[in-house]
Amino acid sequence: MGFPLVILVSNDDGVHSEGLRVLAKGLEVLGEVFVVAPDRERSAAGHSLTLNRPLRATQLAPNCYAVDGTPTDCITLAVMRILEGRPDLVISGINMGPNLGDDVTYSGTVSAAFEATLLGIPAFAVSVVAKEDFFFQGAADFSLYLAELTLRKGLPPDTLLNVNVPNLPLSEIAGVEITRQGKRIYSDSIVEKMDPRGRAYYWIGGEEPTWERLGGTDYEAVMENKISITPLHLDLTNYAALEELKNWDFRAFPSSRP
Ligand code: MN
Repeated sequence: MGFPLVILVSNDDGVHSEGLRVLAKGLEVLGEVFVVAPDRERSAAGHSLTLNRPLRATQLAPNCYAVDGTPTDCITLAVMRILEGRPDLVISGINMGPNLGDDVTYSGTVSAAFEATLLGIPAFAVSVVAKEDFFFQGAADFSLYLAELTLRKGLPPDTLLNVNVPNLPLSEIAGVEITRQGKRIYSDSIVEKMDPRGRAYYWIGGEEPTWERLGGTDYEAVMENKISITPLHLDLTNYAALEELKNWDFRAFPSSRP
């Protein structure tokens, strides 16, 4: 760790988001905080990287940059170019809305932390479980606590933390739970309408998402007013399936013949 500590903050709600501002402000007691974030909302950008056009970074304040790209672009640009040297920690958030269960792969918030992990920098993503009237200060206070803990203990290799915080004052939070990813219940949430020229158009995500009530999951923890921390890793290999698939017979495929 360098001295003073350098903390990079990003998100997918955009550089002007209140959650980002509250998070960055709260971390200032720890070290030098840099903000490199998308110039507009890029929620559900997933882990996409912009390769088909140039990217611009606009300096808004001494330690604050807006990038006309995705959260992943922001982390890559920040670490490779904008910051002098590697940050000690990357925190993505505070997202306006939960990032639970299967939704983590859509999430720009979580993907920013993923990208930092790929670059070998400890990282976590923080989201507030609410639709409106966000109470960011609780999540910011917890982020500071978790940042200190993460810097002191380090994270296991290739691992990031996905943190979901109930939208409550700290006095009403029922504790912290280490959880596994929950399961989303997928319903028919595509709205089909007709445009003025008589052609169909579609809108994804009409209905409220719901998750299965499973013990030990991120969803269950936040339903019990607990802060959920899920350790995620980048290896998506299904090791149980790997053994099963090894039994499939590929010998009939021409290239496999001796
Ligand atoms: Mn978002």
